[in-house]
Amino acid sequence: MNKENLEKSRVVLAIDIGGTNIKSAVIDSEYNIVKELKCKTPLTYNELIDYISSLYSSDLEALSLAIPGGYNHSKNIVFAPNLTILNGKNILNDLKDIFNNIPILIENDANLAALGEYHYVEKASIDNMILLTLGTGVGGGVIINGRLHKSRTSTFEIGHIIAVDNGRKCGCGRYGCLDEYANISALTLTYNELSNTNSDLTPAKIAKLFDEGNLTAKETFAVYSKHLAKAITDLINIFVPDKVKIGGGLSELSRYFLKDSIKIINNDIFPLYKGITTVEVASLKNQAGVIGAAINYFKSS
Ligand SMILES: [Zn+2]
Repeated sequence: MNKENLEKSRVVLAIDIGGTNIKSAVIDSEYNIVKELKCKTPLTYNELIDYISSLYSSDLEALSLAIPGGYNHSKNIVFAPNLTILNGKNILNDLKDIFNNIPILIENDANLAALGEYHYVEKASIDNMILLTLGTGVGGGVIINGRLHKSRTSTFEIGHIIAVDNGRKCGCGRYGCLDEYANISALTLTYNELSNTNSDLTPAKIAKLFDEGNLTAKETFAVYSKHLAKAITDLINIFVPDKVKIGGGLSELSRYFLKDSIKIINNDIFPLYKGITTVEVASLKNQAGVIGAAINYFKSS
């Protein structure tokens, strides 16, 4: 690309604010990543604002943020119980002057991952798609008739549908939420329940035990498959999407649970819907948030 073209290209600064890291990328309207940065998430809100401010440059057309929580679009307030430095903050207000009043978009990270997967990977070739993110928490986003479903608070809290009646207590106040059975800690909890131990085995270690033939590890993933399958079956029965995609850190271990989940789903879904939905692992990995954030701007501008 020559200098003249470079100057003419439209670019957005996309930032994925995670609990551990912040990923930033300057992305053009063809969704090419022009520049990429990563840093540890600061401990205070002011440091976070300072960091984001330091990334401003005059060639930016917009700033688009992916946040680990909900966003009230009418009050511009963030709801982020898992990243408390953001909770209750009005980021828009605190950044608009520094960013010279260019458009600032804020959206839930899992919603944006779904948007990214839909446009960047699927090229918008299907109508309806659900993305489940299995990570520190369980999130998701749903594309209906080619558009990201948004609500007043922007979230699609798949993690808080009930997986087990009167089950584990969830941070949201209810008992038995999917989040408690499908997030990263859930595998360790299930393993400990089944073995009556108090281990701190990571999912990767439980997977290793699985490979070594450990029966408790196998049962742990079987339990995981079952709960995930129940939730996905319910989602298919409601939305009848063309695809359900699995993203987030635990999708790296999908070979230990997804085949079994799909078997249960195919058996349990409403008969009329059999054979319509494909369940597969998402293609966008760590860049899902920033790609989705860029698309959120370019598809609405
Ligand atoms: Zn919950």
